[in-house]
Amino acid sequence: MIEVVPSCQRWWIQPPMPDETLRSVVNRAAALYECPPTRLWECLNWDDPQPYDEVESPSFDTLRRMAAAIGVRAPDLSTHRLPDAPWLLAPLTDEAYCPMCCIEDQRRGDPLWIRRSWRRVLLTRCPAHGCPLDLRPERWATWSGSPALHLPDLTENEQRILELIASFGETLERSLYGGEPWPENLTGNPQIARGLLIAVSFNMNRIRDLPLTKCVQTSGNLARYIHGPLHRQEPTKKLRWDAYRKIADPAIRRASLWITAWELMRERPYDLSPGWSKLPPHVEHMIRRATSENSPLRRAGSARLDPLSWRELQRHPLTMTHSNTLK
Ligand SMILES: [Zn+2]
Repeated sequence: MIEVVPSCQRWWIQPPMPDETLRSVVNRAAALYECPPTRLWECLNWDDPQPYDEVESPSFDTLRRMAAAIGVRAPDLSTHRLPDAPWLLAPLTDEAYCPMCCIEDQRRGDPLWIRRSWRRVLLTRCPAHGCPLDLRPERWATWSGSPALHLPDLTENEQRILELIASFGETLERSLYGGEPWPENLTGNPQIARGLLIAVSFNMNRIRDLPLTKCVQTSGNLARYIHGPLHRQEPTKKLRWDAYRKIADPAIRRASLWITAWELMRERPYDLSPGWSKLPPHVEHMIRRATSENSPLRRAGSARLDPLSWRELQRHPLTMTHSNTLK
């Protein structure tokens, strides 16, 4: 490990890529100098302690220090900021990534880098390629192997299920935060959908148990992309959107989106079912309570994107060719 000298930091890394997160930039530098990212961050801000969980949204002084270390202009680096917001994964939650983007980065000789669009909590497919996002491998920063691009052959119906899940998540994002109308082919409203997402993702029983997402029934090939959590959870006392925003694994988020989409669809083709026809009564009860008029959940995290942030989201349009079934 190379000891980082606080007073004269210069990170000899490639400049930030076009839509790279600042945490990704710091992680690349940390990998180069073989030190933990938190240590590099502490050294950079040794006379002005900055918590590492603010790496995506640093103060102006910190941003200036980062820019000097990377050798770019502070205003240019500023465009990479990603302040915390209800439509993003919670700060420091692990990363999702697109295997195809990664392959292309490697072919170009670029470093592996995390796109800001992959941090959107309701987005489960790559805006550039349309393929399902995956959980980032543990040793990403020093990863030299190829990602598992051996995509399993999916049947037409399996692809329809993935399409349903991805388009439902994007529709919900636009309705919750962009103020777009709730589609007529869905019942309920965006707040109920969000309450349902949380309720099926956490243990709603009174004893230690698995959440409903564990019960989705997938065929063999689809199981790679959609599954519940591995471990039992303590009972959930309160439904919280912030807790949902900590679910990094897109496969687990897909399971909750699938159940929620299915519950709210006015017409339910049997072949798109997650494996049952009706929610357990205790889950329905919790959802009704959580989404009632006076519930804090109705208000929490329902902030609309300010026009600037919304335009920012639209900078990464969904360029894939498949149709948006929930439009
Ligand atoms: Zn991609």
